[in-house]
Amino acid sequence: MKISEMNWMQVEEKIKQDGRAVVPVGSIEQHGYLSLAVDAILAERVACEAAEPLGVPVFPILNYGITPYFRNYPGSISLRLDTYQRIVADILESLAGSGFTRVMFVNAHGGNIPGGSILQEWMNEHRGVTVKWHNWWNAPRTWAVVNSIDSVASHASWMENFPWTRLAGVKLPSNQKPMIDIARMRMMDAAGVRAYLGDGNFGGVYQKPDEQMLEMWRVGVEETREALEGPWP
Ligand SMILES: [Zn+2]
Repeated sequence: MKISEMNWMQVEEKIKQDGRAVVPVGSIEQHGYLSLAVDAILAERVACEAAEPLGVPVFPILNYGITPYFRNYPGSISLRLDTYQRIVADILESLAGSGFTRVMFVNAHGGNIPGGSILQEWMNEHRGVTVKWHNWWNAPRTWAVVNSIDSVASHASWMENFPWTRLAGVKLPSNQKPMIDIARMRMMDAAGVRAYLGDGNFGGVYQKPDEQMLEMWRVGVEETREALEGPWP
């Protein structure tokens, strides 16, 4: 249930029966030929579909993420790590103040993971509130589906190309791009990253049949829903 479709009285009532809330987190950054908003689109959609049958409120997505390495690709926006961590902490502070006791972040961008590293410290300072960080794409069963389709898969390749992230009228290359050396890329500044990556795909073909993508999606939604169900310590 989207928070945009609830008023505060309904939220107050909801919290009395169920202390769970979901906050999707994404990124606005180059995704090759796909939308700049891939990670935002995927995080919000997977979170909403997972939470819907459980009736758990889903807050609006934190669109911007941590992506300094893509700064030379137009349209990519990066928050500094400390800005990001403060935003995460501020959101949690407000959710805890509302009375939520179980909060799950649903993340679609690997670069955001350090933003979640404050969670254990935060929980020590806010006993009684449990926070979970769920990376939807590399949760074990979803990742197994990816590997069963094609193990050459990464950022901006086929594995992020869904009917809701591709752009109308954009023609995709038909080759398989060889995997880049991620460790090497990590040592480069934003200009170096752009020169090294070219179109932005880290490796893999650019598209798979929708049937396979919808299967990956189905498992991803299911696994995200299971994470929301528990266990919550
Ligand atoms: Zn992505």
